[in-house]
Amino acid sequence: MQIPPPSATASPPWEGRRVLVVEDSSVQRGYLVGLLRQLAFGEIFEAADGNEALQLLERERHDRIFLVLTDLEMPGMDGIELTCQLRDRNLADNLIVVSARDPRLLEIIENMAREDAAIGLLGTLLKPVQLESLAQLLCKAGDRDGGCAPAPPPSLPAQASLEELAQALARKEFLPHFQPKVAMQNGQLKGVEALARWQHPQRGLLSPAHFIDTLEGQPLMAEFTLVLVQQVLEHIQHWQQAGLPPLTVSINLSADNLAERAFIDRLTALVNGSGVAPASLVWEVTETSVMRQLSQALTNMGRLRLMGFGLAMDDFGIGYSSMQQFARCPFTELKIDRAFVNGAAQWPNRLTVLKSALDLGQSLGVATVAEGVETVEDWKLLRDLGCDMAQGYLLAKPMPAEELVGWMRQDRRRLRALAGSE
Ligand code: C2E
Ligand code: CA
Ligand code: CA
Repeated sequence: MQIPPPSATASPPWEGRRVLVVEDSSVQRGYLVGLLRQLAFGEIFEAADGNEALQLLERERHDRIFLVLTDLEMPGMDGIELTCQLRDRNLADNLIVVSARDPRLLEIIENMAREDAAIGLLGTLLKPVQLESLAQLLCKAGDRDGGCAPAPPPSLPAQASLEELAQALARKEFLPHFQPKVAMQNGQLKGVEALARWQHPQRGLLSPAHFIDTLEGQPLMAEFTLVLVQQVLEHIQHWQQAGLPPLTVSINLSADNLAERAFIDRLTALVNGSGVAPASLVWEVTETSVMRQLSQALTNMGRLRLMGFGLAMDDFGIGYSSMQQFARCPFTELKIDRAFVNGAAQWPNRLTVLKSALDLGQSLGVATVAEGVETVEDWKLLRDLGCDMAQGYLLAKPMPAEELVGWMRQDRRRLRALAGSE
């Protein structure tokens, strides 16, 4: 990753300034501190909750701290209460709030700040905080001080409307692509993850960034998932006939999918009717999905496991109470988010999260998968840390089902060499 450019002519206005990080998880706090160091902040203070933060800021009043970077969910005083206290006591000029939860929670803070400029909010960020986004928000503080020019906001692809998606579904325009998951010990293909694509008649092949958010929370998501699962089941049968070794296929489930008993009934009926063994399928769910409707999610995960399906916790490391939640759920696999994988050899803060995720997976006896393995350096580090499987552009990008057999033949030697590399 590139360190965002302090402008070529002047150093960034925050360079050498004092900053306070308020975050209850020591791992996450370490991660944020690492980012701030990379941005060339000066003294970095840390507090584990709102009360500790207020005491510290009162004590340092004589030499004001430039920025307060706080988590939203904390035991004791949460981020919303802390924001109000900072305003009432006039303790922060620049505030950034981060959260692993629903973006709507962050919107509350954004709305508060719109009503009241005294809050000094530069903006809010979802975890995992990326260096580039943090630097962009900081440029707003630079603006006030007459500092660096703000970078243009990242452009997100336009989301299709629900009507368009319903039509696309009826026209069978959604299909899965597949990305290999490779055993780090010997370079063998262990499984693939199915990733949805939209074959748009005019715009070509579109990634989930163009449609998943619109489907989220809508009844159409159930139909969408089942359409993909149906296609996956057909591909599994073709691969078996083509003589591919047994593979597991991972499929992403949305929060609503996971929480609805009726959906789980339809899903399992579909698989049972196909003759594909449940053990060939792994359902991937994120911690946020599990937390959204915890008791239904736990019940349904238990049912899926009893039927013999695999269950993976996706995007591990960016949730807000990862360790505790993980131990409570019947997962068979832990997928570490790529924010903590790619570049972990260079960035100690990523490495800390990566190591603790691997420790957790290993101590609970579940398979560990690293996402976003992009370089040989990433690969070697993970292999030396004992990670079971890798997924990422170094091995292969997601590809159409028809290309998988060819890819396997062509890349077998390369992968074996990678596994054995010094
Ligand atoms: P995810 O489940 O975390 O999937 C991994 C994403 O990382 C994929 O993006 C994949 O193409 C990308 N990726 C893989 N290796 C690398 C790498 O080395 N570097 C980088 N930078 N990226 C890598 P994609 O296909 O765009 O999917 C994005 C997200 O959309 C998925 O994230 C998943 O949350 C969601 N999604 C995809 N298909 C489905 C689906 O069928 N149902 C649901 N509910 N969500 C889906
Ligand atoms: Ca996934
Ligand atoms: Ca993931």
